[in-house]
Amino acid sequence: MIAGGCRCGAVRYTIDLTAMAGTYACHCTICQRVTGSSFAHQMPVREEALAVSGELALVSIPTRGGGLSVQRFCAACLSRVYNTNSAWPGVAIVRAGTVDGSETLSPRFHIYTSTKQPWIVLPEGAEAYEDAAPAGAYRALLAG
Ligand SMILES: [Zn+2]
Ligand SMILES: [Zn+2]
Repeated sequence: MIAGGCRCGAVRYTIDLTAMAGTYACHCTICQRVTGSSFAHQMPVREEALAVSGELALVSIPTRGGGLSVQRFCAACLSRVYNTNSAWPGVAIVRAGTVDGSETLSPRFHIYTSTKQPWIVLPEGAEAYEDAAPAGAYRALLAG
């Protein structure tokens, strides 16, 4: 079982998995804005495997592709915990930095590297895409 939570501890969650799912890093300018940082580190998991306790604040945001992204924040400290996206039903995209033991996670691939901040140097041979990755790359992460 994987566990995690927000900064203040009001929101905690478990993910019914025996090993960490795969993760990816998104270097798009939206993720830079939303995180106030340089990229977002994401762990997609099956929504049914995720059990959350504590109050979430929900914010719905239209996506580039014309869909809807529903962002879930801790209602007390506003840590962004996960989101769902109408383009990827049944999947919860967990912020990898909220996972207990996140230091063991490293991105399987990088997306939107065309807007990656110039000081970030990807490891030699890293799987990277100038914009979105093929759908199969995301799906493969669910298998761990
Ligand atoms: Zn919190
Ligand atoms: Zn992004």
